[in-house]
Amino acid sequence: PHATDAAAPGPGAQAGVDWGRVRADFPLLYRSVHDHPLVYFDNANTSQKPSAVIEAMDGYYRRFNANVSRAVHQLGSEATEAYEASRKKLAGLLNVRADELVLCSGTTFAINLVAYSWALPRLKPGDVILVSRMEHHANIVPWQLVAERTGATIRVAEINDDGTLDLDALYAAMTPEVKLLAVAHVSNLLGTVNPVRAICREARKRGVVTVVDGSQAVPHRRIDLAAIGCDFYAFTGHKMCGPTGTGALWARREHLQAMPPFIGGGEMIREVSFEGTVFNDPPHKFEAGTPNIAGFVGLGAAVDYLQALGLERIEAREAELLAHLNEELARVDGLRIFGHAPDKAAVVSFLVEGAHAHDLATLLDLEGVAIRSGQHCAHPLLQFYGVAATCRASLAFYNTHEEIDAFVAALRKVRGLLG
Ligand code: PLP
Repeated sequence: PHATDAAAPGPGAQAGVDWGRVRADFPLLYRSVHDHPLVYFDNANTSQKPSAVIEAMDGYYRRFNANVSRAVHQLGSEATEAYEASRKKLAGLLNVRADELVLCSGTTFAINLVAYSWALPRLKPGDVILVSRMEHHANIVPWQLVAERTGATIRVAEINDDGTLDLDALYAAMTPEVKLLAVAHVSNLLGTVNPVRAICREARKRGVVTVVDGSQAVPHRRIDLAAIGCDFYAFTGHKMCGPTGTGALWARREHLQAMPPFIGGGEMIREVSFEGTVFNDPPHKFEAGTPNIAGFVGLGAAVDYLQALGLERIEAREAELLAHLNEELARVDGLRIFGHAPDKAAVVSFLVEGAHAHDLATLLDLEGVAIRSGQHCAHPLLQFYGVAATCRASLAFYNTHEEIDAFVAALRKVRGLLG
């Protein structure tokens, strides 16, 4: 996009980026809501899309719409090339091999794939699945379903009041019965960035297989999966400027080879007869049926976009926006903020004394401000804090300091109305 600085930036560097021009790449941000300019602070829920992504999908349908890996005609090979190019782009983004990336509909599918193909055939009564308190339901419920069917049990890795993982407790909980650890890279509700590299190292020492939920990490910082050292890493395309219904599971090759397919159908086979079926090699073995081709063409464009902007610049920009937001919120009376991790993504969950989260979000919407309220698919985390719901403002690099000021002004106004 508009990164004009050719030199590789160090951490914190934003040189050469005209953030006003970057924002102009996102057409939706210019609409109004209830006669106010939109302030979109629900980025952890889903991000907005730059024109490059919208146009890439449009271009696919206009110029080379065809099914992938089936037809010998020109359109079929163009579609297949574009689909496979997206896999390579994602691999480049995450520093992994393309054939270790299973393309799928998103994190939810990716984690279920691990649950059904890796865990279900392996776990037995007495085994333990360790799950952190701060997981999204997508990284809890599949493990509960597997536990029910295998006789394994779920153990919870607890958190500290500041919203960080209790690492001593986590390591102590990794007893020999623990076969798998499910942990978020970044919490969707608290913004806590977990030290997944250290956690995966400890898990590996103890023979515990690690499943990292990267949904809230991949869009916001440079992720080097080779350095993290996990076994599985799941993420979703729609939070990283890509289309809905896209995402991937990265897995170590030896796992992908050992795992049976989760769902069967076309594309995932080499040969089918009624005497027996020979499956395709991974990752295709796990990609049955016609995939979301247009979506992955769009996701490839999203990766290009993020790479051109630079994940380091994105991280620095969002840290600067978060600092401003925190500073402004510190001056609002009666606010309770959840999560004070030292390493935190640009996500702020909060409550206003005496006001229900949904009422607050509804009144903010009338001011043009979009935040999320409710349980954020993280009931166990809210149970820890003893609250039924929170409001959550989550930022992206295309947000502005002016929007933060507008949000805080609107918050003061609606607080006055509710108070
Ligand atoms: N995990 C986390 C931490 C999330 O924030 C989300 C998004 O809602 C998910 C998993 C689920 O992602 P998806 O709904 O795209 O499968």
